[in-house]
Amino acid sequence: MPDYGLKGQAAVVTGSTSGIGQAMARALAAEGVDLLLNGFGDPDRIEADRAALEAETGVRVLYHGADMTRPAEIADMVATAHRAFGRLDILLNNAGIQHVAPVEDFPDEKWDAIIAINLSSAFHATKAAVPIMKAQGRGRIVNLASAHGLVASPFKSAYVAAKHGVVGFTKSVALELARTGVTCNAICPGYVKTPLVEAQIADQAKARGIPPERVIEDVILAAQPNKSFVEYPQLAGILLYLVSDMGASATGAAFTIDGGWTAA
Ligand code: NAD
Repeated sequence: MPDYGLKGQAAVVTGSTSGIGQAMARALAAEGVDLLLNGFGDPDRIEADRAALEAETGVRVLYHGADMTRPAEIADMVATAHRAFGRLDILLNNAGIQHVAPVEDFPDEKWDAIIAINLSSAFHATKAAVPIMKAQGRGRIVNLASAHGLVASPFKSAYVAAKHGVVGFTKSVALELARTGVTCNAICPGYVKTPLVEAQIADQAKARGIPPERVIEDVILAAQPNKSFVEYPQLAGILLYLVSDMGASATGAAFTIDGGWTAA
């Protein structure tokens, strides 16, 4: 493994109590990065995970329960990390939810929640982090988008709209910050088997009227030419590259890690 030179840096990872965010937080902690975790879940489990990560890696690990639908809480989360660590080097906007339904039946409140959590929260966190990173003369903003930031699937109108929005937002922020030492990029994974995908298997089965095992083969991995779920270490590899000095010239990009999906 290369030395990414991240020891002593500080990161905020939204939605890091589960799935990809949790795995990316662990990858950063293993490189010596102090962390502020965020996300929902059972408070005892969150505290046990936080304490275990701190004990295993020796970095400082904080938790902030900001709800990604609430701008003031998001600003407070970023300010808390900056106050506690005295710096903020990495912001990983990862929190996200999904809902699968035909557009004519799509519940208004689900649309609003997906746009708020998957798109607007990245704006609010970035807005709070940019002044800190600019003052430092260095920073890394990484947005966990999706292959659905570049191409669409049926029944996912809100998610696809939000993720396309994240890719556009990433480009705009990158251009604004191009001469500041702060980069902004999007990672666009194909399917990663996390709790979010497990839930989609059930939802898709209902929407399409087919059994769950056929959803995996014919629907979910149908889009992924290599027929394999993306693994966490494969995402950690691109994340660590982007946040290290090796990633200094990468900005405004959407990195596909999707087994060939968006090449089709
Ligand atoms: P997950 O459900 O395992 O984790 C989502 C995280 O977001 C959890 O920690 C949850 O508590 C948090 N969260 C949800 N609503 C929140 C809110 N209002 N405020 C604060 N935190 C909130 O999902 P995942 O699969 O790990 O997804 C993580 C990100 O990766 C999402 O943005 C998702 O769209 C994206 N993504 C996932 C896949 C996949 O196949 N799993 C593929 C491409 C992109």
